Amino acid sequence: MEITITKAKELKPKPADESKLGFGKLFTDHMFNMDYAPDEGWHNPRIEPYASFQMDPATMVLHYGQAIFEGLKGYRTEAGHIQLFRPQENFHRSNSSNRLLCIPEIDEKFALNALKQLITVEKDWVPSAPGTSLYIRPTVIATDVFLGVRASSTYRFFIILSPVGAYYPGGFNPVKIWVSTRHVRAVRGGVGEAKTPGNYAASLHAGDQAQKRGYTQVLWLDGVEQKYVEEVGSMNIFFVIGGELVTPALNGSILPGVTRDSVIALARLWGIPCTERRVAIREVLDAQIQGQSVEVFGTGTAAVISPVGIIKFGNEVVEIGDNEVGPVTERFYKELTDIQYGRAEDPLGWIEPVC
Ligand SMILES: *Cc1c(COP(=O)(O)O)cnc(C)c1O
Repeated sequence: MEITITKAKELKPKPADESKLGFGKLFTDHMFNMDYAPDEGWHNPRIEPYASFQMDPATMVLHYGQAIFEGLKGYRTEAGHIQLFRPQENFHRSNSSNRLLCIPEIDEKFALNALKQLITVEKDWVPSAPGTSLYIRPTVIATDVFLGVRASSTYRFFIILSPVGAYYPGGFNPVKIWVSTRHVRAVRGGVGEAKTPGNYAASLHAGDQAQKRGYTQVLWLDGVEQKYVEEVGSMNIFFVIGGELVTPALNGSILPGVTRDSVIALARLWGIPCTERRVAIREVLDAQIQGQSVEVFGTGTAAVISPVGIIKFGNEVVEIGDNEVGPVTERFYKELTDIQYGRAEDPLGWIEPVC
């Protein structure tokens, strides 16, 4: 399938001060769109000026949430080139999400090629100040105009791009997290392992409660026993306990993060013992209370690594590793960001050059 390209007549001014970019507020001049109909399959792939959608109020996605999305980043190297980090994994995961949401799959190589063409059109939008990047949001939505619960028969796949600022402008500092014992993010057998909007809507209330108490994120426990750690905010979670790296095993309610997988792969490469298993929140807090060396961090595309300094569980407030960034946490952050920006070798073949 040939992708048609229609250029915008007028381009928006690029941001003058890249230190003020923030996250997710500014979008580039063009987007990618492609449609699905039962008789045509995925068709009419096109790069065209970024524009609003006009939608019938009865469009199914607005009512039943049949949609999936992805999040990845483009990085500008010191030499001025643009590169992606493991983008194949994102398009592979979006098809897992598609299957779970009854959305027709999209050819992964085609989607990656479309993204690379879009970024090439928008290359001047990729910022270059330290820590900045181009956030990429591929999305699929159900577009039938119909009220009633069933899978839609038509869909729109689109990709939008947003230049974003450094995640840690004020330094790489630990956050405070609140363990929710009332709310759960997802349950086994549900859609927790898909990147689908409903999961995020379902997390807002607990997030609000955490923020009202002065905590940055919610630490989510399993939906059955509420004993075992699942994720933190919208990130996967890791623990370093007595020199061993531990992360909750993928159990159907945890989102399989690309950053999570990359941390595990680097740990194996470095010879750090790493296990994927069930982790009780009690085990982590007790290890810290008993004086073992403990580190806790979240992983996700936006932050890469997010160190955790304080955990509140019921009436207990436990400080992790003196509320400072631990050496293992720091090492993963440095290595991953060095690979992403092309400052370090790419030992596992993760970099996809764009232009
Ligand atoms: C996207 C996401 C992650 C992190 O995935 P990455 O591929 O590492 O960005 C973790 N948990 C949830 C719930 C997510 O939505």
